[in-house]
Amino acid sequence: MKVYVDPDLCIACGACISLSPEVYDWDEEGKAKAIAEEVPEDKQSEAQEGLESCPTEAIKQL
Ligand code: SF4
Repeated sequence: MKVYVDPDLCIACGACISLSPEVYDWDEEGKAKAIAEEVPEDKQSEAQEGLESCPTEAIKQL
C-alpha cells in the first residue's frame, strides 16, 4: 500500500496526523505528508484510518 497527500487539497485540519501519527506528519509548508510513501505492513490499517478521516479526500492510495 502506498499513500500520497495532495497538498492542493489538504486544508491542514490535522485529522490524519492525530489518528495516524506513524504514517502522516506535517511538511515544511504546514500541510500533511506521508512519512513514507510505501506504508509498512503493520501500519496499513492506521494509514487507512487516516485516509478515511480526511474531509477533503486529499489522501490518495496509490
Ligand atoms: S486529514 Fe486531510 S485535510 Fe486534514 S491534515 Fe490530513 S490530509 Fe490534510
